[in-house]
Amino acid sequence: MFLEVKNVYKSYGRTEVLRGLSFQLEKGQDLAIMGGSGSGKSTLLYTLGALERIDKGEVLVDGKNISKMEDEQLALFRNRFIGFVFQFHFLLPSMNCLDNALLPAKIGGFKLKEIKERVLNLANILGVSHCLKKYPYQVSGGEQQRLNIIRAISLNPKLLLCDEPTGNLDSKNTTNVLQVLRNLSEEIDSTLIVVTHDAAVANSFHKKITIEDGQIIS
Ligand code: ADP
Ligand code: MG
Repeated sequence: MFLEVKNVYKSYGRTEVLRGLSFQLEKGQDLAIMGGSGSGKSTLLYTLGALERIDKGEVLVDGKNISKMEDEQLALFRNRFIGFVFQFHFLLPSMNCLDNALLPAKIGGFKLKEIKERVLNLANILGVSHCLKKYPYQVSGGEQQRLNIIRAISLNPKLLLCDEPTGNLDSKNTTNVLQVLRNLSEEIDSTLIVVTHDAAVANSFHKKITIEDGQIIS
């Protein structure tokens, strides 16, 4: 198994958000997560990406128990193994889009030349080459989202987590971005997990789970 989620619990204060979630994913499978607003989808994604610690249970990624890792080890793990496309765009306003896309490489101490080539190539594929020298406020929401995707996959993550990556795109761009995500993740042999409200999108994934009140209902 590539991903094993075992009886995971997570609360914020007195709010129980994840209440005993379990599922597994084999390498090469992709997963769609559905569920109403406030059901715990983003929280689940954060715990899979080791951005949030769980209260109880275990999360194993590629055999590694990330629930037991120390903070420092976890930060390294995130940098090397996880790509995250956030629901709300997180490009830093103080640097241009190229520098934003190169941020994980800089943080991880990678050779910038190689990663920059990859970023330029991805920008070309996603049609945002013209944005690279601009600052985030100078590009559209859809362009920001594609730049987010580039940043998330720049280091070839083994696990690619996307929180409603097409939430504010029209239907044509939604299909586009999802197709690109799937193609790219396949190309770099990454496991793709996407939170989506789009049933047609979800049905095209290998595996689909629906969450309600912090539990899997189907
Ligand atoms: P979804 O992504 O399915 O809309 P979330 O995982 O964002 O749901 O949130 C699930 C519940 O957890 C909501 O009730 C939300 O208010 C609460 N919640 C999420 N993050 C926090 C936080 N950092 N602090 C307190 N409550 C939170
Ligand atoms: Mg959410």
